[in-house]
Amino acid sequence: MRLVLLGPPGAGKGTQAQLLKQTFAIPHISTGDLLRQAVKEETNLGKQARAYMDKGELVPDELVTAMVAERLQHPDCASGFLLDGFPRSIAQADALADELTRSGKRLDGVMSIMVPRADLIERLSGRRVCRECGTMYHERFDPPKRAGVCDKCQGVLYQRSDDNAETVSARLVVYERSTAPLLSYYGDRELLYEIDGRGMPEEVGQRITAALNTVPATHRS
Ligand code: ADP
Ligand code: ADP
Ligand code: ZN
Repeated sequence: MRLVLLGPPGAGKGTQAQLLKQTFAIPHISTGDLLRQAVKEETNLGKQARAYMDKGELVPDELVTAMVAERLQHPDCASGFLLDGFPRSIAQADALADELTRSGKRLDGVMSIMVPRADLIERLSGRRVCRECGTMYHERFDPPKRAGVCDKCQGVLYQRSDDNAETVSARLVVYERSTAPLLSYYGDRELLYEIDGRGMPEEVGQRITAALNTVPATHRS
């Protein structure tokens, strides 16, 4: 399966990717996670990406597409992948299509997770992430057993620096301007599946699984 999870910040892409990974043995590729790692390690890419991420803007297409192209070469992607947070612009979608065509492959589907704006803001403002293992929590909707501590590894939970009110608004504007056009891009290519992202994560996961079952066999690989 070669899938894309599309959706505004806070829609639950990372959360759904974690659930889907248990069903399909394919790697979860989050460009946000890869970029945060690069920033942490102060690589060349990280140094260039940081300022954009702090402002909630998109990191330039060339940098992100090169990073993804490299990641897709890894042997674990041979049986498929789950892209989370990429593509985020038409230029990135074109680059992905070219990359796949070159290796005789294609996407199976693009799952677009839709959540009302007020819920996005609520989800982002309460998001907490484990510094050690990356597990996602929410202050109210999915709190850890012990405040500030990861259930799985006892790691410390932190709030992403871009999950503050001002940067969140900027990210939502960027989504509308640069990423939302992908809905008709993938709709035109008959790859788009619109998923209602409201409700419990498990319910949303069931909607995605149901949508996956309608992917035409010719698209499945
Ligand atoms: P979100 O929770 O908003 O979906 P991500 O973790 O996916 O956040 O992304 C965090 C930041 O990393 C973005 O605001 C952007 O600066 C950068 N980023 C992630 N993916 C991309 C991409 N495909 N293109 C450009 N920038 C990206
Ligand atoms: P994205 O990757 O799209 O930015 P996340 O998966 O990180 O979104 O989810 C954002 C926040 O919302 C996290 O704190 C997560 O625990 C919470 N969350 C995810 N899905 C749901 C849901 N269905 N209902 C309530 N909260 C959710
Ligand atoms: Zn942890």
